[in-house]
Amino acid sequence: MKIAVVGTGYVGLVTGACFSDCGVDVTCVDNDAAKIAGLRRGEIPIFEPGLEALVHKNSAAGRLHFTTDTCEAIAPALVVFIAVGTPSGPGGTADLSYVDQVARTIGTCLASYKVVVTKSTVPVGTGERVRRIIQESTAGEHGFDMASNPEFLREGSAISDFLRPDRVVIGAGSDRAITILKDLYTPLFRSEVPFVVTSVASAEMIKYSSNAFLALKISYINEIADLCEKVGADVFDVAQGMGLDRRIGPQFLQPGPGFGGSCFPKDTRALATIAEEHGCSLLTVHSAMEVNRRRIESVLGKVRCLLPEIVGRTVAVLGLAFKPETDDVREAPALEIIRALRAAGALIRAYDPVAMPAARKVLGEGGIAWARDAYDAVRGADLLLLITEWNEFRHLDLHQVRNTMRSPLVVDTRNVYRYEAMSDLGFTYLAVGRPCSCIVPRSERP
Ligand code: NAD
Repeated sequence: MKIAVVGTGYVGLVTGACFSDCGVDVTCVDNDAAKIAGLRRGEIPIFEPGLEALVHKNSAAGRLHFTTDTCEAIAPALVVFIAVGTPSGPGGTADLSYVDQVARTIGTCLASYKVVVTKSTVPVGTGERVRRIIQESTAGEHGFDMASNPEFLREGSAISDFLRPDRVVIGAGSDRAITILKDLYTPLFRSEVPFVVTSVASAEMIKYSSNAFLALKISYINEIADLCEKVGADVFDVAQGMGLDRRIGPQFLQPGPGFGGSCFPKDTRALATIAEEHGCSLLTVHSAMEVNRRRIESVLGKVRCLLPEIVGRTVAVLGLAFKPETDDVREAPALEIIRALRAAGALIRAYDPVAMPAARKVLGEGGIAWARDAYDAVRGADLLLLITEWNEFRHLDLHQVRNTMRSPLVVDTRNVYRYEAMSDLGFTYLAVGRPCSCIVPRSERP
């Protein structure tokens, strides 16, 4: 089978690489000519474990192609995935301009039957909107079916998530489209993966509802962590005790600096806005967003607690990406925290194993020294602020860290270190939701 994937970002490139690895002939399209030229030379535009090898292998085997020409890509394809971005637009709505543009192009060059599939995360009604745009832009009588196939991969483990999903959701109104998509997906999976076959509208809702639910779980444990600090409980034990209950599950019960990334913030905003537009306010989702917004203040409160006079002091920030194993800094808590610290007069020494180029583009140079590694970042620092729990930060030589810092102050927003060990080493250490909190002056509380 031949397929086209329009949009060669985190989702599109992983989708294309994984399908091609399973024998499908895939053409990935992007309107970013530099990205396509780089991919043709074997340069991978993003950091995603395992992706480079997969792209190289399947490009060499002649199963994975790259082009900027959508019409050329879709001409031989039976299935066309739309995987372009749907960023936050005005008022929190999803900006569908990229999706619309792709739909118009598909309509213009439609010359044989296709299944057109939205893989981008899109609001309910987008499938119908894309169908209308294609119909309005097409001159011939070539049929096509619309389908929705939302993607649930996580950056950092995208390939294994794609190849071993918990479920594949197919929203479509035509049996032909459902059969084609099942034929495309089934050979990918070694063991049985459940298909949820439903309407396009329900598939679109499944994606938003899932992301909002996970965001809610994160905000919930973050609030519980705050309470644990007050009552002398340990959120690690609390989360473990909760997570062993199969009705709850252990995932997304790790407290931290709040959710970020390219999905949860924008998708919760979009879902809340869709609900408002339909006169049905989602109070839980609004609360999850508000709790998350306050998270940054909570981290800053801990920094202020240990370092009340911040002007001219140096804060070493470890981790810039919104999570480990990715270079994605979209809505990453680290960036907002750095902006606030910089505005308050702190000097920043920042390090991330892969996300520094992306962070540099967004933050610029002012007030930030970009370190070579974690040890370089903490050299001469007044406070270490750990924001992303990359594995390489778990086993730092903390003696060395202690000896090179100007003052031994640590705020660990991911609970990577143990209080007793840090205390023994002479650090003043603040984590999240553990009985080692510091009293933030009332006037400075969020
Ligand atoms: P991205 O920004 O990494 O990639 C989007 C790509 O589309 C870019 O390379 C851009 O140049 C390209 N593009 C834009 N307009 C185009 C056009 N007209 N023709 C061809 N290419 C075009 O985005 P992403 O993170 O891959 O996300 C894509 C969609 O998938 C979004 O809706 C997102 O919400 C959803 N999603 C993302 C993730 C994730 O972890 N990143 C997971 C699940 C779902």
